[in-house]
Parts: sequence; structure tokens; C-alpha cells
Amino acid sequence: MINLFLLGLPGAGKGTVSEQIVDKYHLTHISTGDMFREAMANETKVGLEAKSYIDKGNLVPDEVTAKLVEERLAQPDIKNGYILDGFPRTTVQAEMLDEITKRLSKPLTKVISLEVKEDILVKRLSARFMCKKCGATYNKITKMPKEKDTCDRCGSHEFYQREDDKPEVVKNRLEVNEKMNTPLKNFYQAKGLLTTVNGEQTPEKVFESVDTVLSDN
Ligand code: AMP
Repeated sequence: MINLFLLGLPGAGKGTVSEQIVDKYHLTHISTGDMFREAMANETKVGLEAKSYIDKGNLVPDEVTAKLVEERLAQPDIKNGYILDGFPRTTVQAEMLDEITKRLSKPLTKVISLEVKEDILVKRLSARFMCKKCGATYNKITKMPKEKDTCDRCGSHEFYQREDDKPEVVKNRLEVNEKMNTPLKNFYQAKGLLTTVNGEQTPEKVFESVDTVLSDN
């Protein structure tokens, strides 16, 4: 059973490598960012609460986020394992996750950190755009849809740029996340769970490196 936490700054390639991992290992991908965006689109209570934080690039309060994650991890579809993406963001959340996974008997088995320099992240994020319907992620430089103006995944023709990928927010978002990343890595290093992977490689090479870590049990 692989229960993975994928760590990396926004734009490090967590979404892309998650798709490749899901294809091979059939794990359930749990992205708190995706869950919040869906909740905002559906204007649920959680979505409305989260919006004011997310649009500024700040973190949603821990209690709200941890509850969302616990409810998701408790679902019966998580039978082959899971990939957590975007949670935990802080050591406080990491402690909360420990408690949650203990309660559910689904402990983390691996932590992989995708390492990418900040100037590359800024370039990647400002070129990123999403499918309005299914949330699939594209990039003006590295990953255009195969057929012009058509989503590879769902066939929709409408795209948008995330509010928090706009240049004025990206810098704050990276700073907020960067400050928290080091203690988080130390936390999992101390538990003997952490492996770092160079996220500046091509998507194929990144997946190769991640796959090596995952198949080493
Ligand atoms: P992401 O797609 O992971 O970049 O997340 C988008 C936004 O959702 C973040 O900038 C936060 O506002 C919020 N968010 C996602 N995950 C968390 C988390 N673990 N804790 C707090 N806020 C989060």
C-alpha cells in the first residue's frame, strides 16, 4: 500500500506527476486546492469561507482544511492508497494529519518533495491556465492542449487563469508557502519518510525518478 504525501511549491509539478502516479498505481489523488476550487465553484459553505483567503494567496484556516481532508480520507474509494497534494502545508497541519491517519488507520508511507527554483516557478505559474469545466491544468509554454482550444480530458472549449496565478498574487503565494516548506521537510526527514526529487527535469524524467522511489518498498 502506498500512501504518499507529495510536497512542493506551487508550480513544482505536483498535479502533473500525480496524474502519472494515478495512472500506474491507481491511488486516489487528494488535492486540497482542487477540493477548495470545486467548493468555490459550487458555492458551498466551505467554498464561500475559503474564497476570501484563496483569492489573496493566503492559507485557509487549519480546522477547515483538516476537516475537509479527514472527510475525504474516510471515503471507501481509497483502497489502493492515496496521494496527498497541497496538505499538509505546515507542521501544525502535519501533526493534524498524523492524528487523522491514526484514527483512520491509513498512515503515510512515503513523502516526496519536488524541488524547483523560485524563478522557474514564477515563469511556470504565470503561463498556467485551466479548463473551466474539469480543472485540467495546461501551460502556454510546456503543455498546450493537443487539439487547439479543446481540453484533452473533457473536450470543453473554455479555459481560465486561476485568480491566484496572476502575477500580483503569485509572489505572496510563493513566499507564504516557501517559509513553511523547510520545517515541513525537516519534520518528515526526522521520521525517515522524505525523499527529494529534482522537479526541473522534463515531466517524463520527473516521473521516472518518482517511480523509482515508489517502487522501492
Ligand atoms: P493549491 O492549488 O495547492 O496551490 O491551493 C490553492 C489555495 O487553496 C492555496 O493558496 C490556499 O489558499 C488553499 N489551500 C490549499 N491547501 C491548503 C492547506 N493545506 N491549508 C490551507 N490552505 C490551503
